[in-house]
Amino acid sequence: MITDVRPGPGSSRYLLGFDLRRRPHLEADVLVVGGGVAGLCAALAAADHGKEVLVLAKATMRDSNTAWAQGGVAVVLNQAEREPEDDIEVHVRDTLVAGAGLCDVDVVRDILGDAAESIDLLRRHGCLFDRSEKGALELTREGGHSARRILHANGDSTGAEIVRSLAAAASAHPRITVIENAFAIDLLTDGGRAAGVIYYRREELVAALAGTTILATGGCGRVWRESTNPPVATGDGLAMAYRAGATLADLEFMQFHPTTLYIAGGARLLITEAMRGEGAVLKNHVGERFMPRYHADAELAPRDVVTRAIISEIRRTGFPHVWLDATHLGAEFLRGRFPTIFQACAKLGIDIATAWMPVHPSAHYHCGGIVTDTRGATSIPRLWAAGEVACTGLHGANRLASNSILEGLVMGIRAGNDAGNAGGPPGRVRISAPTPEPAPDGLDVPDLVRSLRAMMWRQVGIERNAAELAVARRSLAFWLSHQARGGFRDRSGWELQNQLLVGSLVASAAERRTASVGTHTRADSLGAIDTTHLGYIRTDQEPP
Ligand SMILES: Cc1cc2nc3c(=O)[nH]c(=O)nc-3n(C[C@H](O)[C@H](O)[C@H](O)COP(=O)(O)OP(=O)(O)OC[C@H]3O[C@@H](n4cnc5c(N)ncnc54)[C@H](O)[C@@H]3O)c2cc1C
Repeated sequence: MITDVRPGPGSSRYLLGFDLRRRPHLEADVLVVGGGVAGLCAALAAADHGKEVLVLAKATMRDSNTAWAQGGVAVVLNQAEREPEDDIEVHVRDTLVAGAGLCDVDVVRDILGDAAESIDLLRRHGCLFDRSEKGALELTREGGHSARRILHANGDSTGAEIVRSLAAAASAHPRITVIENAFAIDLLTDGGRAAGVIYYRREELVAALAGTTILATGGCGRVWRESTNPPVATGDGLAMAYRAGATLADLEFMQFHPTTLYIAGGARLLITEAMRGEGAVLKNHVGERFMPRYHADAELAPRDVVTRAIISEIRRTGFPHVWLDATHLGAEFLRGRFPTIFQACAKLGIDIATAWMPVHPSAHYHCGGIVTDTRGATSIPRLWAAGEVACTGLHGANRLASNSILEGLVMGIRAGNDAGNAGGPPGRVRISAPTPEPAPDGLDVPDLVRSLRAMMWRQVGIERNAAELAVARRSLAFWLSHQARGGFRDRSGWELQNQLLVGSLVASAAERRTASVGTHTRADSLGAIDTTHLGYIRTDQEPP
C-alpha cells in the first residue's frame, strides 16, 4: 500500500531562495528534465502532439546512464525475428523471477507487451542494431533470461547508438529545444501542481515554466563509492520530487552489478553481462570456476545471486576481487563483439584475449523511485516521471538485465504522449521561496561527498545489518543538518545535498525492510531469502 507523503520537518521545500518575478524564465508547453532514453523519447512523443518542448540536461548528451549502456535492450520481437521458443509470457516470467515476488504482474505484462512496438519506433528514429551477415537482427542472452532476446548495437555500445539516434531526431525536430549543461535544482509547484523547474546555467538561475513537466533524470548510483554510473547520476530527480512531496517507493533496492573492472585508480568500467552470456566465466584467486557451486545457472544466475557469490568468495579467500576469464572466446570475436571493453582494458594494459580481468561488484541500477502509474503520472498533478528515476512496479526487488532501457523507451513514449496531450502554455506562475541561511563557511564539499559515498558502500551496500544501517542513518542526519545545511551557490553543493538526502532515504528504507529480498540483503536475517510480497515500503519524511 503506498500512501502519499508530504515534506515534514528536516527538509526545506526548496534548496535556495528566489522570487520568480525577478528571475529570467523560459516557457514551453512541455518541459522534460533529462536527455537519456526516457527523456528523449518523451520529448519526441510530446512534440508529435504539436507541443513546444524544452529539454534540459545537466551535462552533455553523452553524459547519461543510457549513453554508457553496453549490453542491450531486452525485447521479444515478432515471430519472424525472435527465437522460436521465446514468447512475451516467457519474458514476463523471467522478469517476475528476478523481481523476487515484488513486481506488479499487470505492469510487467503491460510494459513488456509494448516492447516490440517501441523498438520499431526507435528504429524509425534511425537506431541501428547489430545484424548478422545474412541481415537478421542479432540477439544475445543475459543473466536471468531464458532465451536470446537482447538487441545490441556496435557490439557493446548499445546506449551510445540509442542516444545518437534519439538526440539527432530531437535536434532535427522543429518543436524541440535542447539545452545542455542546465542543472535543474528544484521542481516548482504552484497550488500543489507542477509548474516547471528552477535551473542553473552559466552562473545564472533561470525558471523553466511549462504546462506539464516530465522528470527523466535517471539514477543515483553515484551515491555509492563503487559505481558503474557516470558522474551525473547523483539522484537529483528523486531528491527534487521528494522535496516537492511526491510519493517514492522501493528505495532500498539498489542493484549491484557483479562485474566491474577493479583496478586501483581506474574507472569502474562495467563488464557487460553479455560477456558472460557469450561464455566468459568467473574464477576465484586459485582459478576455480566457482559459480556452479552457488546456482544452477552459474554465471547466468540473476545479478543479486552472482553479486553475493562474488562477495562470498572475496570474503572467504581474503583476495580483493575475483577474475573474469574470456580468453577462450578469442581475440577476433572479443574485439568485434566487445570493442569498448577490449579497448578500455588494452589501455590499462590488459589484453582480454590472453589475460583474465579483475572484477568486483558496484552500485549499478536503482529499482525504486518516484511512484508512477502505467502512463508515467506521479502523485503530483501535472508531473510525470519515466525511466530509472521512476518506480512503475516493473522491476520489483531486482531488475532483470536489459529491462531498463526498454522501460525508459516504453514509459518515455507514454509519458510524452500524455504530458503532450495535457501540456500547454504555463499560465501565470508566482512562486517565491525564502533565502536559507548561507551554507557553513569553508566546507570541503568533495571531502564530504567522498565520506558519504564510502559510508554508503560500507554500511548501506551489498550486505546490510540493523546496527550498521542505524550508524549510517545517524551520520547522514548529522551531515544533513550541520555540514550540508543552508543555501549553496553552485552545482557541487546542491548535488551534495541531493546525494545526502537520497542516501538517508535509502538507508531508512533499508532499515525498515528487515528481511532479505532481491537486491536487498540483510546479513542479520539471512537463512532463506524472503520472497513473500512485503508490499511497498513507504518513505516518509520523519527526520532521518
Ligand atoms: C555502465 C552502464 C551500463 C548499462 N547497461 C545497460 C544495458 O545494457 N541495458 C539496459 O537495459 N540498461 C543498462 N543500464 C541501465 C540503463 O542504462 C539506465 O537505467 C537507463 O538508460 C536510464 O535511462 P534514463 O533516461 O532514465 O536516465 P539516463 O540515461 O541516466 O538520463 C538521465 C538524464 O538526466 C539528466 N539529469 C540528471 N539530473 C539532472 C538535473 N539535476 N538537471 C538536469 N538534467 C539532469 C542527465 O544529465 C541525463 O541527461 C546500464 C547502466 C550503466 C551505468
